[in-house]
Parts: sequence; C-alpha cells; structure tokens
Amino acid sequence: MRVAVNGAGGKMGAEVCKAVQGSPDLHLVGGVDPRERVLQIGARTFANLKDALEAIDVDVVVDFTTPAAVGQSMETCLEYNVPMVIGTTGLSESELREWQVRALQENWKAIIAPNFAIGAVLMMKYASEAVRFFEHAEIIEYHHAQKLDAPSGTALRTRKLMQEVHPREIPIHSVRSPGLVAHQEVILGLPGQTLTIRHDSNNRESFMPGVLLAIRQIPRIKGVVIGLEHILFTDI
Ligand code: NAP
Repeated sequence: MRVAVNGAGGKMGAEVCKAVQGSPDLHLVGGVDPRERVLQIGARTFANLKDALEAIDVDVVVDFTTPAAVGQSMETCLEYNVPMVIGTTGLSESELREWQVRALQENWKAIIAPNFAIGAVLMMKYASEAVRFFEHAEIIEYHHAQKLDAPSGTALRTRKLMQEVHPREIPIHSVRSPGLVAHQEVILGLPGQTLTIRHDSNNRESFMPGVLLAIRQIPRIKGVVIGLEHILFTDI
C-alpha cells in the first residue's frame, strides 16, 4: 500500500514515517509539512496535502496534524477519494457524526482513533466494563506540555464509552507538563475500595502497531470507523 503522511514533520508524523518505512508491505510515498522543512523520510515532501495528492498516487493518507487542520485535510481526501487513518484529536462529537453520514453518502472511508496504543484501547474497554459496579468515577489524563487540546481525545472517548454503559457524571482532569507523553488513570470508587485502571504511553512507538494495523485494515472497512476497538475486537 502507498502511504502518505500528513504532518510528517511533527512528533507523531515522524514516528509514523519511520514505522511505515520499516514495514515491507507498506511504501511511504510522501510526507506533508507546511513549513516545507527538508524531512529525512526517504520520500517526497510537499507543502500541503492537495499538492501531494495531485502529484503522487496514494492509497491511504495518515493524518497526525492539529485540531484546526484536520477538517480541511479530510475535505481534500474526500475530494480525491483517498481513505484516511486519522490520529489527530480535537474533532467534536457532532463533527464526527457528520463525517460518518457524509462518508457513507459520498462513498469515502476513514479510521479515526483518539488513541492507537493497544493498552489504551484495553483501558477504555475495562473502564466501561467496570463502571456499572462503582458509585463514583473520575478520569485524570496527563500529557506533554505542547498538547493543543484538553481534555484529551482519549479521555473524552473513555468517558463516552463509560457513559454508554452507565449514564452519570464523570469529571475529567487534565495535567500538562514537560516530561510526560500520554498517560491516563480511570479511578472508580466505592466505600472502602478504589479500582484504578492506568495506561502509560512512555514513548510514541507505543502508537505504531495500532497505526499500522489501521493502515492495513483500511481496504476492509466501510464509511468512517471511530475507535481502534472496532478493528481490534470485531471482524469488520
Ligand atoms: P506536533 O508535533 O505538533 O505535530 C503536528 C504537525 O502537523 C506539525 O508538524 C504541524 O506543523 C503539522 N501541521 C499543522 N497544520 C498542518 C496542515 N494544514 N497540513 C499538514 N501538516 C500540518 O503534534 P503531535 O504530538 O505529533 O500530535 C499530532 C496530533 O496527534 C495531535 O492532535 C495529538 O493529540 C494527536 N495524537 C494522537 C495519538 C493517537 O494515538 N491517536 C497519539 C499521540 C498524539 P507546524 O508545526 O508547522 O504547525
């Protein structure tokens, strides 16, 4: 599969370029960096996604950019009918629902996941299984200081999954500090006991198996799939 990476000059984009190049069945054909930096990715670089899709044949675009940029990237990929794997967080629930409807109408597809780390997906699953047994639940998410959105997409997704099982208030606390990557605790309380479900991404390599899995599953999905759990735990 021919893969282009949007945001190739960013922290996650650079890691995705490396992971794709290390995969014999995938071929990195381009990277997009708005600052037009010379990226050592072993593929052509472009100033914007439209230029890239005009110039090269792409089977899937992987997007790790910013909440402000991702909507336009989706419009561009829809226009060129190129599927996407999206890790960028910050799209609202209503935007996600709109994209799900549009994708089916316009025969486009994407996998959008707020967290590609397998352990984080399991954390969300276990938290949504445990929530019905506990009176009290809170989420604390910890991220590096440059993260643009708060609460994190993972925390919002965890809360949504928990509330689907057991409607109730679940406060989210966001910590931003240098030295952190991406960490989350779900704390569940009952009189006399606490259950804490914690996941730590200690480096960005932790997200790569999930990103590669999503790239490889793109040909099998239909429409917009939200959450890695749909390709991890179920047959599409
Ligand atoms: P980052 O280091 O700031 O990288 C973002 C990159 O996107 C920057 O190089 C930025 O360039 C570039 N960019 C901005 N606008 C663009 C556009 N219109 N077209 C192409 N590229 C554009 O951030 P990061 O830590 O890699 O995180 C990126 C996103 O992934 C965030 O939303 C973050 O929350 C999310 N994330 C998701 C997961 C997951 O598992 N789903 C894991 C980690 C992070 P400039 O610097 O020039 O603006």
